[in-house]
Amino acid sequence: MSYELCEKVRSLEPYQPITGEYRIRLDANESFFSMPEELREEFKAIVESLDFNRYPDPMARELIAAFCDYYGLNPDTVTATNGSDEMLYLLASAMLPKNSTVVVTDPDFSMYQFYSFLSENTVIPCRKNELMALDVEELIRTVNDNQADMVIFSNPCNPTGQGISAEAARRLVSSVKALVVLDEAYMDFWDQSILTEATSYDNLIVLKTASKAVGSAALRLGFAVANPTITNALRAVKSPYNVNTLTQRLGTCIYRHKDLLQERCKAIVDSTRALYEAFLKLQETYQLSFDMANPCANFVFIRWNEAGSLFDYLLKQGIAVRYFKQAGALRVTAGSLEENAQLLQTVEKYIIEKTLSENR
Ligand SMILES: *Cc1c(COP(=O)(O)O)cnc(C)c1O
Repeated sequence: MSYELCEKVRSLEPYQPITGEYRIRLDANESFFSMPEELREEFKAIVESLDFNRYPDPMARELIAAFCDYYGLNPDTVTATNGSDEMLYLLASAMLPKNSTVVVTDPDFSMYQFYSFLSENTVIPCRKNELMALDVEELIRTVNDNQADMVIFSNPCNPTGQGISAEAARRLVSSVKALVVLDEAYMDFWDQSILTEATSYDNLIVLKTASKAVGSAALRLGFAVANPTITNALRAVKSPYNVNTLTQRLGTCIYRHKDLLQERCKAIVDSTRALYEAFLKLQETYQLSFDMANPCANFVFIRWNEAGSLFDYLLKQGIAVRYFKQAGALRVTAGSLEENAQLLQTVEKYIIEKTLSENR
């Protein structure tokens, strides 16, 4: 006798971000800021006083209080998780009945489809238009025509960097019976949030993460905000000790540094704007035929028939960005001034070399 893996998992491969050493990492939408020294000092005191032999607070009360203070929320409406990823998994599995239908937008964050695949939900994609914008009326129709149980999407969107207005998001939530999961992972960089209104709907969950604007991807920390009825269910289905004590304590400390977080957020928005404008300038100077929308998050998304070849070129020069083969696009996270400058210089070098080789 021999054991065989079930069909569903047989050909799956572990998630592989770009491996190898790159001097500039602009591939994962992380913050380009590392933790400042003053916070690291506070972290040391936290580690020294940690009760390593005790389980964490299952409700992460102190952490949720700090998070709520930062965003102006009521603690009874928040669930903390081991990264948003844990919540995405719970939403696709525990929160839905068997044989559920989930509507996603396409392109969007690939994890939504992945967890629905694992949970054997039926996934129905609502495609974005040729400009990569989301048509909310079409999304509403897709959800209702298919009697979907859940619709999930990111706003602003990863990878397109485009967003829908708060008004359009409200219209969606109040026009469908389905549970709406609105992933505002990048909303710190934009101003169309409905986070503080999440509890006024009976079918809305808004997701936040510490991995992007808060610069703490290493901690694995996410939050779901919803009315108390949904929140009770989310707290009930999560594993009891999902957020470890170290993450809870460090996260609490970080969210209490409001001024620092807001200052950094603004610097990241400025860097993104500068990067976008520099690409526009390259486009004008060299008459390039790429498509790039005004970015609402901390990255630019460039659709170009050179995407694959430029991606390889950048990697060879030690610069990692994200390549979306199907969309024929590059997603470039905004970096520090120095990182952006090096990236742009290398892109320009590519353009010049490429033009030379084409003219030969
Ligand atoms: C990066 C990202 C997240 C964050 O996930 P974590 O598990 O909290 O790191 C969530 N949603 C989207 C769309 C993202 O791009």
